Amino acid sequence: MPTTDYYEVLGVSRDASTDDIKKAYRRLARQLHPDINPDPHTQERFKEVTNAYEVLADARKREMYDLGADPLASGNGAGGGFGAGFSFTDIMDAFFGGTTTTRGPRSRVRRGQDALVRLEVELAEAAFGATKDLHVDTAIVCGTCQGAGTSPGTQMVTCHSCSGRGEISQVQRSFLGQVMTTRPCPQCHGFGTVNPRPCVECAGDGRVRTRRNLTIKIPAGVDSGTRIQLAGEGEVGPGGGPPGDLYVELVMRPHPVFDRNGDDLHCTVELAMTAAALGTTIELETLDGAESIEVKAGAQHGQILKIPARGVPKLRGTGRGDLLVHLEVRTPTRLDSRQEELLRELAQLRNEEHPHGAVSSQGQNLFTRLRDAFK
Ligand SMILES: [Zn+2]
Ligand SMILES: [Zn+2]
Repeated sequence: MPTTDYYEVLGVSRDASTDDIKKAYRRLARQLHPDINPDPHTQERFKEVTNAYEVLADARKREMYDLGADPLASGNGAGGGFGAGFSFTDIMDAFFGGTTTTRGPRSRVRRGQDALVRLEVELAEAAFGATKDLHVDTAIVCGTCQGAGTSPGTQMVTCHSCSGRGEISQVQRSFLGQVMTTRPCPQCHGFGTVNPRPCVECAGDGRVRTRRNLTIKIPAGVDSGTRIQLAGEGEVGPGGGPPGDLYVELVMRPHPVFDRNGDDLHCTVELAMTAAALGTTIELETLDGAESIEVKAGAQHGQILKIPARGVPKLRGTGRGDLLVHLEVRTPTRLDSRQEELLRELAQLRNEEHPHGAVSSQGQNLFTRLRDAFK
């Protein structure tokens, strides 16, 4: 059985409505809140009243309590913490609707922001990994004040305007009842303290900007857009707060020969028509050094030769992409008479002199007449 009678604490009957409970609590909170009445006995009583309200204003908890359990007893969660961190403003907000989201003085120390830099990498570096130097401009802790923001030998003093609360509250009477308004203290900007002599080095911010050199390890298989996170290498926060992270976004420098598509590499190789017809071996400088690539006789324009596992290593998992060689067959131009003669002979032998369908009979006649005319 619970040891405290919550109904008695609030001074309401056991069948009191939620409205009655609210009203009772509001009346008691005004009398007993520590912001108004700080003596220890009153604070203890305020805590009891608040606990009682927490239980009875919540239908589920009230039911538990009515059945003989104490929802605030240890093991049931809340454990009476409700009263402690609960400001007068919060209570008034609970009744009159939120008028504010501020809650006591805010800290001058905050975590720093993440920083992002871009770094250009060569194809081979992206493929096989590399270690690179990086210059970053970020905020670091001010060496003069060690992040405190105050001149050496001085310190922050409590703000007189808000007595260190960081916010200024006003209760106004209106025809709807009392309305509580709370706003950040304009004198101290909500910090609750003022800086009488800001550090000259950092103007009170506790940090200064500087350029640093970092070394970054680039894993094999990265691509444009890959972001590498360096924990704690971002901006130091105001007031010497912990730094954010640094993200290094990689940008691939275009390669003169290879285009990258995922883990595959593509390149184009020009082939003479004769080489394409007869077959040949081409020497190609790949990421792994010179490779001899065999082109079989009868290679076609637009044909793609696949060289397995000569692409970029996969960032996740094992294996590598492929190297895809696109063939571009060049038709010879500026034939001398001997070359033309040979080609004509070849065309005759292959019965390709007058390809079917390529020229209409009328065009054929025109072609013949024109050729004869220039003989
Ligand atoms: Zn400083
Ligand atoms: Zn203030």
